[in-house]
This record gives sequence, structure tokens and C-alpha cells, in this order.
Amino acid sequence: MTTTTLSSRSEQARTDQRLKITEIFTSIQGESDLSGWPTVFVRLTGCPLRCSWCDTPYSFHGGDWMQIDDIVDQARSARVRHVCVTGGEPLAQKRCLNLLTALCDAGFVVSLETSGALSVAEVDPRVVKVLDLKAPGSGEVGRNDWGNLDHLQAHDQIKLVLADRVDFDWALRQVEAHRLDRWQVLFSPVWGQLEPRQLAEWIVEARAHVRLQLQMHKYLWGEAQGR
Ligand code: SF4
Repeated sequence: MTTTTLSSRSEQARTDQRLKITEIFTSIQGESDLSGWPTVFVRLTGCPLRCSWCDTPYSFHGGDWMQIDDIVDQARSARVRHVCVTGGEPLAQKRCLNLLTALCDAGFVVSLETSGALSVAEVDPRVVKVLDLKAPGSGEVGRNDWGNLDHLQAHDQIKLVLADRVDFDWALRQVEAHRLDRWQVLFSPVWGQLEPRQLAEWIVEARAHVRLQLQMHKYLWGEAQGR
């Protein structure tokens, strides 16, 4: 085998381990059962959905290619235990699965924020999956892949971001129909659209077995990017 062939193969192997990254930053986890922990966020570029209230449209395009090894090294240099892989829709890049495994192998507590529209079947079982199911107000309710429920483990969580009472009533029906309370179910208000107190009152009134979740990072830093 010639040196040229070897070097082109090694180049190909490196290319196979690249991901398009919008940003990597360290902050406080503001969502899920892991909220409050200092966490490295790895935001992958790209999303096939267009939720009406999306707060990260800047992740749809652009980004920089990074090797998985370099992403893990950058996470290590942050000196925190938790890493959250988010987007965009991180699973839209197939190599995200390799990144998740590499981060677990490196000893991090790894969580994945995913829309629930793409299969989570092959996600490393050590990863805490937060399935962000879409309510009607998002405009993307038809994209929920309910088959994903078959691949959830006890440590995984289901999040529903709600824009109004229609969303709330729909979400309660889904909790019952799909027995979502087998996992932690998190109800979160759309920032600036549904008053948190209103959602809290609906939850108490309905005696719903769900957890109210406010986006802690937005109370701390508003809508600043990289927070
Ligand atoms: S799935 Fe997430 S990133 Fe994609 S449009 Fe919806 S909220 Fe935005």
C-alpha cells in the first residue's frame, strides 16, 4: 500500500469523526432533572424542525467542523462533570451517536436534549435522554415519533414546552394516553408567551403528576446566547 493511500485513508477516518458545531460553552444547566449543575453545552448545528417559539434559530445553519476527540478535549478543559449535547437537533448528525459514547467513555455525566422527532434507539444507554415532545403550539406536533418511548430508560425524562391552555390540555391527554408518567414529565412554559404562574396553577388544579420546570438560565441571564 502506498504512503499516499495510507494518508488518504487516515484523512478519511478523521473526516468520519467530524461534527458541525454551533457553540461549546460552560454554564448552569437550566432544564431537566439535572438543572443547577455546572455543565458544558455542546450545541450541534442543524435541525429539521421549525418550532414557532424556537429560541436557538442561530443553530440552524453555519457552525464549524470539529473532530470528536477535540470536542471531548474541550469539554475536559472546562473541568466540570456534566456535559449536555443539544442543538438544533443533535441527532440530525448521525455521528452525534459517536460523540455521546466518547463523552461517556471520558467519564462525563452526559445528557442529550432531543426533539423526539428522530430515533433515539441507538443512543448510548449511559446517556440521560431528555425527549422534548412537541405540543400543537409549536407547529411541529406531527413530528413526534412516539416509537421513541420504547427506547427510554428509567433515568430518561420527557419535556413538553407549552404555549397556552390548548397545549396544556393536549399534554395532559398525552400523559394519560401514553402513560408518560412512567418517566419524569416536565411541563415548561414558552418563555414570554405563557406566564409560569398560570401554568403552575393549571398543574395544581389538575393534580397532574408532572413537574413544573422553568428555564433557570433565562432567569439568570435572559436570552443571551452561550448561556
Ligand atoms: S427542535 Fe429545538 S432547535 Fe429545532 S426548531 Fe424546535 S426548538 Fe428549535
